[in-house]
Amino acid sequence: MTDASLPADLRYVAERAKGFMPREEGMILFDVARAYGPRGPICEIGSYCGKSAIYLGAAARMTGSVVFTVDHHRGSEEIQPGWAHHDPTLMDPRFGKMDSLPFFRTAIASAGLEEHVIAIVGRSATVARHWNTPLAMLFIDGGHAEDPVTQDYEGWSPHVMPGGALVFHDIYPDPKQGGQAPYRVYQRALASGAFREVRAEGSIRVMERVEPSGG
Ligand code: SAH
Ligand code: MG
Repeated sequence: MTDASLPADLRYVAERAKGFMPREEGMILFDVARAYGPRGPICEIGSYCGKSAIYLGAAARMTGSVVFTVDHHRGSEEIQPGWAHHDPTLMDPRFGKMDSLPFFRTAIASAGLEEHVIAIVGRSATVARHWNTPLAMLFIDGGHAEDPVTQDYEGWSPHVMPGGALVFHDIYPDPKQGGQAPYRVYQRALASGAFREVRAEGSIRVMERVEPSGG
């Protein structure tokens, strides 16, 4: 799959972090981030407990890039109490809300990546409205329901630089395997003509912004 090998100490921390990123898919993220990192900054939507950010951050450290990762840390609809993927240890009793930020901080500090992974704590759409920096790589893995994933695409994908990568997680063409909202948004990105697919493995899809022709 890849000749890139994640430093062993980071692999150890990444595999112990809470989260929904299987190792094989984390290694794809690492590989893609190594390829695009030299062009500019990487942005992740959906930090959760930092698992995917470790793979991205390791690549950022190797390529002189940086990862910004956006999350309000209050959990997506689909991981709230009562849902299958809810983790009760993430509840903050003071506010009766989830809080993944302390776990995120522990993971990134344990990985020694604090210089390379920068948390932005807030609602994705709000941050997107004020964002103005071209991105070498955008990784969309925030809320997986129709509205949040649509807003993430609409708010963030315009910032992917020509030749830069737009990456989705949790793309399931078969509805039996998972929710369809990210898949629909991914198809919309392809249909826009602004992106062409360059890699599809597991539930990860990597697209590249088509360079303007004649340049
Ligand atoms: N990328 C992580 C998993 C992210 S889980 C990993 O692989 O390890 C999805 C995250 O998106 C949750 O932490 C949730 O709080 C966040 N999220 C959902 N909707 C959001 C929104 N509108 N703004 C900011 N963060 C959001
Ligand atoms: Mg995911």
